[in-house]
Amino acid sequence: MITYTLVCPKDHEFSQTFDNFDDCQAQLAAEAIKCPSCGSTNLVKGLSAPNIGGQSLAPTPQCPAAAGCGNGGCALKQ
Ligand SMILES: [Zn+2]
Repeated sequence: MITYTLVCPKDHEFSQTFDNFDDCQAQLAAEAIKCPSCGSTNLVKGLSAPNIGGQSLAPTPQCPAAAGCGNGGCALKQ
């Protein structure tokens, strides 16, 4: 199980528990989740660190030189 913070377009934040990352993505794509405050289904994952319960997931890729990355092919380049 994994808990993500979800944010709606009106900046309502709430936590939702999913089986895994794919489940989260699938439910967001299917608009299966509603904001409890306004009912919006246009939700995105918030910036809060996910609360991972007993499941080790692959770490998010991090550019080793994120602050000053000179690699034009770097996927993390802003
Ligand atoms: Zn809302």
